[in-house]
Amino acid sequence: MSTGDLIFFVIFFWVVFITARLAVFALNIDIKLKKRLWPAIIFSLSGMMLVLAYLLDFPVKGYAVLGLAVAAIIYTNLKGFYFCESCGKMLANKKILTTVETCEKCGSSLK
Ligand SMILES: [Zn+2]
Repeated sequence: MSTGDLIFFVIFFWVVFITARLAVFALNIDIKLKKRLWPAIIFSLSGMMLVLAYLLDFPVKGYAVLGLAVAAIIYTNLKGFYFCESCGKMLANKKILTTVETCEKCGSSLK
């Protein structure tokens, strides 16, 4: 596998994750279900990425990059969004290093 393939692989999954995010945003389902669905989607996509990397015979060096990428993807996608049960919305957390405690839209507590 060449560097070009590696870059293609990463971009491909980057697009897949963005598509998944847009789809979940757009889905008109119960917010509680969405909240449960979101981590499940992120983890299954990450798992798929690793399985595919294995099937594509990734070089050892590629795994180090991939491992970091997967960890970053999981972290940013789990921390980067929150779900408000009061207004039923999935919202982006702009301060990704902090945990959101109140909804930006309606101000109700997320606890
Ligand atoms: Zn709200």
